[in-house]
Amino acid sequence: MSVIPYGRQSITLEDIDCVVEILKSDFLTQGPKVLEFEKNFADYVEAKYAVAVSNGTAALHLCAMALDIKEGDKVITTPITFVASANGFRYCGAEITFCDIDPQSYLLDLDKLEDLLKKHPKGYYKAIIPVDFAGYPIHAEKLKQLAKTYGCRIVEDACHAPGAYFKDSEGKIQRSGNGNFSDLTVFSFHPVKHIATGEGGMISTNNEDLYKKLCLYRTHGITKDHELLEENHGGWYYEMHELGYNYRLSDIQAALGVSQLKKAEKNITIRNAIAQKYDKAFANHSKIKTPHRDDNIEHAFHLYIIQIENRKGLFDYLRVHNIFSQVLYIPAHYMPYYKKQGWKKGDFPIAEAYYEKCLALPMFPTLRDEEQEYVIEKVLEFLG
Ligand SMILES: *Cc1c(COP(=O)(O)O)cnc(C)c1O
Repeated sequence: MSVIPYGRQSITLEDIDCVVEILKSDFLTQGPKVLEFEKNFADYVEAKYAVAVSNGTAALHLCAMALDIKEGDKVITTPITFVASANGFRYCGAEITFCDIDPQSYLLDLDKLEDLLKKHPKGYYKAIIPVDFAGYPIHAEKLKQLAKTYGCRIVEDACHAPGAYFKDSEGKIQRSGNGNFSDLTVFSFHPVKHIATGEGGMISTNNEDLYKKLCLYRTHGITKDHELLEENHGGWYYEMHELGYNYRLSDIQAALGVSQLKKAEKNITIRNAIAQKYDKAFANHSKIKTPHRDDNIEHAFHLYIIQIENRKGLFDYLRVHNIFSQVLYIPAHYMPYYKKQGWKKGDFPIAEAYYEKCLALPMFPTLRDEEQEYVIEKVLEFLG
């Protein structure tokens, strides 16, 4: 058996043809493919607007800028995420407050979040950055209620969850990133994520004002919009209004994105089938805790995470057998950088207990049946 990673991209001949077509065309960047990708992606998540950017981290940074996050502003996120969820806001000088997770879903614990919000006057925290960890969508409707009461904006990090949804209090399907509850939602197209463009990211929103800011900040703060120009010298004329960045996605990447997106829905189904097979194989095993299930959500299963007592033992055992499982994530407040900001071990007991036992097993659409059976066999073999 060759190496089985915990996640990997699946690139088809059709994907390759789409990229080659762009390589032969007039525009490698700033051409029409980016717009097409944005439109198709907005349709996919059922949002009004989508803005393509160079990666998910840039997307988070642009969100912080669009919300006018300034030095010393306080924002809240979960410690069980990739550090970029917090870093994007640090770039604007925000102070990160972490909040512990729910022991079942492993997402931001909304009760603990409310306890935290309650301690301070309305508006003390500028934004909440929930993470749809592993592909499990946050209950954005409940979160929105809290955000409204306590005067904060929501930037949902859905890098793990394009295609996920939850059913709201009326039983209506609410897709991650549809903009009904979160002000802004962020996605990544890193190859381990659902849709691969090499590097790439997207922000979806229903807010026109935020949308315009994102577009401006993505390209150096430069505009050619006649209504915004202070002067106009002719067809070449543009103005720089803000200090923005070059956070553009290229047309080469967008072409891959457009092609990958066509398979996104089908791949969610495949990921769910793989998850079910793992669930079934481990169902009667007292030493393994499988992911929490809820009939009111569609899980996007970016990751399939089990909890197990001897996690290091299993990680090493699988490695010897060419199975590259992964530990996701080392809590952000364990990072020396965030420790320097005043956080320490012991601050978030649920997140820390989660970290001690978590292990992500191989989960990607091209995982073959015999590969998954081999993984299951080795896990069970290890447990004896
Ligand atoms: C991947 C990821 C990011 C960052 O995305 P990049 O495209 O790698 O910059 C942010 N948040 C989470 C939860 C992620 O998994």
